[in-house]
Amino acid sequence: MMTKVVKFGGSSLASAEQFKKVADIIHAEDSRRYVVPSAPGKRFSEDTKVTDMLYACYDLAAKGKSFDEAFEKIKERYNGIIEGLGLDLDLTDEFNIVKACFIGKAGRDYAASRGEYLNGIVLAKYLGYEFVDAADIIFFKETGEFDAERTQKAVAERLIGIDRAVVPGFYGSMPNDTIKTFSRGGSDITGSIVAAGVGADLYENWTDVSGFLISDPRIVKDPLPINTITYKELRELSYMGAGVLHEDAIFPVRKAGIAINIKNTNAPDDPGTMIVESTSQKPQFTITGIAGKKGFTVVNIEKDMMNSELGFGRRVLEVFEKNGISFEHMPSGIDTMSIVVHQTEFEPKEQEILSGLHRNVHPDSIDIETDLALIAVVGRAMKSARGTAGRIFSALAHAHVNVKMIDQGSSELNIIIGVAEKDFEAAIKSIYEIFVVHQL
Ligand code: ADP
Ligand code: ASP
Ligand code: MG
Repeated sequence: MMTKVVKFGGSSLASAEQFKKVADIIHAEDSRRYVVPSAPGKRFSEDTKVTDMLYACYDLAAKGKSFDEAFEKIKERYNGIIEGLGLDLDLTDEFNIVKACFIGKAGRDYAASRGEYLNGIVLAKYLGYEFVDAADIIFFKETGEFDAERTQKAVAERLIGIDRAVVPGFYGSMPNDTIKTFSRGGSDITGSIVAAGVGADLYENWTDVSGFLISDPRIVKDPLPINTITYKELRELSYMGAGVLHEDAIFPVRKAGIAINIKNTNAPDDPGTMIVESTSQKPQFTITGIAGKKGFTVVNIEKDMMNSELGFGRRVLEVFEKNGISFEHMPSGIDTMSIVVHQTEFEPKEQEILSGLHRNVHPDSIDIETDLALIAVVGRAMKSARGTAGRIFSALAHAHVNVKMIDQGSSELNIIIGVAEKDFEAAIKSIYEIFVVHQL
């Protein structure tokens, strides 16, 4: 029998109504045997995700303030779902344990993880599936790193004997049995780990959009979905902020050769996006996707003939390394070298870095530009298409966007463009226009 692991995001499980859609999807195919839920997300745009409610509630508890009211609101979210589904389930004992652990200062990770934990209990009950606590099968090392080896073994051992199970997303346990979560959006990672662990045929990731879209729908109106994308392309896009799938969710399934299908809970018949190792499918457009992030600083270093000075680059990077700053990009010319870093990391170390650079490489000048946004234009077809960079430039010039930096990856899979933050949205829209709208 085929086995699919299905992960449902917060908006897919935000209310009883959404739970019903989820159950319909699961029941529609016998192969959908292992289910990974997120915590209840937003029901409408101004709503608050349960995860955020839990963080806020725990922060009150940790400061010794009264958190009863905030806690009641969280209980209401779950009880609303339970009632709406007409379930014979009482979470009072569970709520009391969580409350006692808040008072006992069990930690922010513990607090946040309860969102998925409780939702997993509700979903398991509703589906009639067994509930398997992620704390028993997903492990972190002492260092806080994910323990892939131990986890893989535990997931396989525990789940393969169970026909159908619900495993809550987002968290696992430390060697001392405390709870640790992945970073935000981490239920995607749990789904991937479970899929690899049980050797699934497919990892379906159900969300609120009909697949990975060519661009962020909050910037471009109704962008087209991508039919098929490779892991490599996706990695570039999710690293650069395309929020659909957590950037670390790719690794476990990729290693196991399992494809991911991004699907829409609210439009289950839409094909969504297939994420695969490689494909012979020709992409519809020269570019596969566009993504970007704000909040970067560029340090431009100028020195005549720097390219012939042995060890120049190493001495520059040494300064950043000593200050604990990793760099994002490093475009360079004959007499210039630019280091792109995260603004929030750079700011507190700015003066140490400047004096370190003067000492180490004696530059002619250093200038710093802040409030930069980076945009990644990604596509496996760019390699064989001539003039891609030229088309990007002309689109940006047309939109009156000044390009501050450009860097092409050696794989020719992506082109990174630096623009002022104020131009970010206009730049993305203009690139979408020229490569997608004009090609339709
Ligand atoms: P979930 O709660 O299901 O995990 P997320 O909020 O994490 O869902 O991810 C889905 C959201 O990602 C979409 O609603 C959309 O607003 C946003 N998003 C950003 N970039 C993209 C993109 N390129 N394609 C699709 N969605 C995107
Ligand atoms: N509930 C967690 C979050 O809001 C994890 C997830 O949704 O994937 O970040
Ligand atoms: Mg998500």
